[in-house]
Amino acid sequence: MPVKPKLGQNFLVDTEAIQRIAASIGDLTGRTVVEIGPGRGAITAALAAHATRVLAVELDHVLALQLRMQFPSDRVTVVEQDALQFDFAAASAAAGERLLVVGNLPYGITSPILLKLAASHAALDRAVLMVQREVADRVVAQPGSRDYGLLSVTVQIYGPAQRLFTLPPSAFSPPPDVHSTVFRWRFAPRLDELGVEEASFLRFVRLCFAQKRKTLANNLRAAAIPPAVVAAALAQAAVDPMARAEALPIEAFAALWRCLET
Ligand code: SAM
Repeated sequence: MPVKPKLGQNFLVDTEAIQRIAASIGDLTGRTVVEIGPGRGAITAALAAHATRVLAVELDHVLALQLRMQFPSDRVTVVEQDALQFDFAAASAAAGERLLVVGNLPYGITSPILLKLAASHAALDRAVLMVQREVADRVVAQPGSRDYGLLSVTVQIYGPAQRLFTLPPSAFSPPPDVHSTVFRWRFAPRLDELGVEEASFLRFVRLCFAQKRKTLANNLRAAAIPPAVVAAALAQAAVDPMARAEALPIEAFAALWRCLET
């Protein structure tokens, strides 16, 4: 069957990498795993060897049919659906536990998938995901580094993300144009601990990163927050008035948000 590049169909053929990904999610005994984009079932088989249940969410109709033939056992349920529409909360309620998620993601929809997982955090325990290397660099980046930005904060507010390993294009068929990195994301939201309200805080962080070249203060002023209010909040939160958002740890964004919101 011809591959569909628009669906990000670069299939993993490196058998060692397949085993490493499955091992990276941790103990699967008695657990339910959601696999995003199972494709030809390479990772699915490794997961099904240990998990109680694998929910394999595949958008491609032909691949979904093939997967059903490849995995006739009750352990694997093929769900022919757009992963962006998958109801993680319902699946978690049915499983009676928080879910594990694994995926060699279709790279074209990486950000929407990460946002979807963030929004579903209450239903999730941990995820092991393969993404384009540059995206993983941004996901795990720490304040002050070149790659630290909106994506880093948006992911890390829901729990720590850890880079695991990187694969060359030759690990896939057909080979993509880019390197790929696997990272682990443990869902442990920091919203309560940081005293922030989810939607409002995420909006605020977007404002802070609105223009990379501008200082944080300028970005906030550009969002029509009066300069005196911005200056007072920066002083109260002990943030350098000349700082750029790229330099700020999540705790500092939270302190600023609290000063401006309360
Ligand atoms: N897991 C397989 C592997 O590692 O070889 C395939 C990974 S391939 C990079 C991405 C897979 O996601 C493809 O099978 C593709 O058809 C599927 N896919 C693309 N968009 C999707 C979507 N919105 N929802 C679910 N699956 C999708």
